[in-house]
Amino acid sequence: MTTAQTTELDVQPTPLALLLLGREADPRSERGVECPGDLPSPSDPDLVERARAAKEKLGDKVFVLGHHYQRDEVIQFADVTGDSFKLARDAAARPEAEYIVFCGVHFMAESADILTSDDQKVVLPDLAAGCSMADMATAEQVAECWDVLTEAGIAEQVVPVSYMNSSADIKAFTGKHGGTICTSSNAQRALEWAFEQGEPHSTKVLFLPDQHLGRNTAVRDLGMSLEDCVLYNPHKPNGGLTAEQLRAAKMILWRGHCSVHGRFSLESVRDVRERIPGVNVLVHPECKNEVVAAADYVGSTEYIIKALEAAPAGSKWAIGTELNLVRRLANRFAPEGKEIVFLDKTVCFCSTMNRIDLPHLVWTLESLAEGNLVNRIEVDKETEAFAKLALERMLALP
Ligand code: SF4
Repeated sequence: MTTAQTTELDVQPTPLALLLLGREADPRSERGVECPGDLPSPSDPDLVERARAAKEKLGDKVFVLGHHYQRDEVIQFADVTGDSFKLARDAAARPEAEYIVFCGVHFMAESADILTSDDQKVVLPDLAAGCSMADMATAEQVAECWDVLTEAGIAEQVVPVSYMNSSADIKAFTGKHGGTICTSSNAQRALEWAFEQGEPHSTKVLFLPDQHLGRNTAVRDLGMSLEDCVLYNPHKPNGGLTAEQLRAAKMILWRGHCSVHGRFSLESVRDVRERIPGVNVLVHPECKNEVVAAADYVGSTEYIIKALEAAPAGSKWAIGTELNLVRRLANRFAPEGKEIVFLDKTVCFCSTMNRIDLPHLVWTLESLAEGNLVNRIEVDKETEAFAKLALERMLALP
């Protein structure tokens, strides 16, 4: 898409988000390097057996975490499944596990490293498994944004709130500047907390990096208007905003988005309602505001799973979240007579999540079983300390 074609609410991916995956290290991106080992062939018929044998050999020394959006071939080896924050806490609750194999993406492995003990080593089976949303806010861009807020004379009124789906650097920035982390389950509480800091009525929130979660929470849950929110574009001078616009705003939204959830449109909602009369539309809050406004229910991944568990037999559901999860839920609940379809007509996997496949998992587990620590994700101590501060503020939220 060219700049001329871009509307105000559309998002230009950063150049970082378009990097070819798996080639060399890129210090400006959280995406990594190509696999340093010899991967088994995807057509090896013994992959499942090899993964099982290596995992058995490692025993309690290894704990495999599987994010909800992972492929079935990987999920079958997960000791626990969940969203990124739950998984990081699960890892911290298993101190006997020396190796935490995180089947997810880079920022999740960083969070697990921050929350686990120094003796535990977090491993990401493919270092190129990044998150395009997390890549949309780099430490340099966010530091520049803070300078812009300082110039506008409002930095002292601003509390940063960063979504879990951000790099350790951004979490550390948040901790350093008195802010908190949030998940899609507690974003409302995090924003309420943030607005209670400082002088009444003067506090502003800088919400990073997902504009949609920030906007949806502010408008749906806190009753703000769309005009209370401004969009900070890190690719434009001063974020594309005047000092007056920044001073007038309550929510300063970073111009980032999830490439998976950002694909759902109002058209998808209208279309599914036509195709399936009586369907319940349930979407993740990372979707655009007009999609969320048109849906029947909105909630985090865990909310979606619980809603479907509680749904009556015979009910019909169109789900706006990652396809691996939707397919798994559709299969799980089909015997109970619940009809579950994907909200969009086009296939919508998270391509970076999908980089973790069986060959990478086998290579990782076999390497660890042979005593070779591979693909370790380690956050430096200073970053870890400030990021932990922001995470602890989240844990202390009422
Ligand atoms: S689904 Fe979206 S937010 Fe989640 S890892 Fe993929 S790109 Fe990132």
